[in-house]
Amino acid sequence: MSAVKVQVDRDRCIGAGLCVMSAPAVFDQGEDDGLVILLDDSPSDADAAHTRKLVEHICPSKAIRITEG
Ligand code: SF4
Repeated sequence: MSAVKVQVDRDRCIGAGLCVMSAPAVFDQGEDDGLVILLDDSPSDADAAHTRKLVEHICPSKAIRITEG
């Protein structure tokens, strides 16, 4: 278990899908709209590290937020 909390903002997401490729245990994409779906808001340490990278460098729309607990 990790202490981080992940949140997504579907209003900002542009459906680029990079989060799903980086951390498929944490993120999915809606079948209809392609927008992010949060699968796990308290990911493992390894997935939290991937999520941190997404937040800092990868997600083009800044739709992912991570809070360190
Ligand atoms: S990487 Fe960002 S913009 Fe792309 S699907 Fe994930 S949350 Fe949406």
